[in-house]
Amino acid sequence: MPQSGKPQRVGAVKQITSHSNPIVKEIKGLVAQRKHRSQSGLFVAEGLKLATDALDAGWGIRYLAVGPDARDNPVAQKAAAAAKARGALILEVSTAVMSAMTRKDNPQMVVGVYEQKILSAGDISAEGATVWVALDRVRDPGNLGTIIRTVDAVGGTGVMLVGDCTDPFAVEAVRATMGSLFHVPLARMTKDEFKRLAGKWPGTVAATHLKGSVDYRTPDYAEPVLLVMGNEQKGLEDDMAEACSTLIRIPQVGEADSLNLAVATGISLYEIRRNRLEL
Ligand code: SAM
Repeated sequence: MPQSGKPQRVGAVKQITSHSNPIVKEIKGLVAQRKHRSQSGLFVAEGLKLATDALDAGWGIRYLAVGPDARDNPVAQKAAAAAKARGALILEVSTAVMSAMTRKDNPQMVVGVYEQKILSAGDISAEGATVWVALDRVRDPGNLGTIIRTVDAVGGTGVMLVGDCTDPFAVEAVRATMGSLFHVPLARMTKDEFKRLAGKWPGTVAATHLKGSVDYRTPDYAEPVLLVMGNEQKGLEDDMAEACSTLIRIPQVGEADSLNLAVATGISLYEIRRNRLEL
């Protein structure tokens, strides 16, 4: 993969017709491989809504690829002008090149390449926070994206990724956030860093657990709340569960062993924020 340096011509417009153009190859690499995203600190988000969200929220943008449909679309033109003013290289591409870049038969009319933003444990302050969700080794990008979107919807503060988690900047995860990625701070940390943070957390530290003895509808949930969720296959690690003050369980009848991680997170978040949300 070519190095992701600064755009060759800052704030310029470039037409690309060849699938073997180095920028097309670079974007393909960012779509396909975590290694390329980590090395460059960049990621790809497809679609006009995400481009608008990213630009409105002030995220750094490296490239905005615009397909033929975008040229007559005023919202897309506005996004391209904003991206260009922000120093991005605007790539005018054919549908075939857009397809090749994104590995999709029906590509979106715009595709952006943005700069990653992720916090560390030391950046997190509980002051003024509502709810942080901590995810233990989340594996599924769709679950992660859905959780970020739900945290946004309930007015949560952020999402902590604990241990070896799926990449929040993978295309599938970004897509599932529906733009909330640009509004919900993310933090990455080790299990030990999480345990230290949980140990001095000023509010409720509640873990959802299939062995929990507390009905999730009963605690008081003093804010700031730290809601801790287990891995899709293995649940929550024992020492992480021990770092939490309450183990809550969502009642189930029927034969399902457990709820889907994103569903369990959504149910818990709406209960935690029940008295603070109104239509
Ligand atoms: N086999 C795993 C286990 O034994 O924990 C199932 C994990 S479940 C798919 C993923 C996570 O969702 C759990 O670790 C927990 O955080 C949450 N979860 C799912 N169903 C739950 C329930 N009924 N009550 C509390 N938490 C639940």
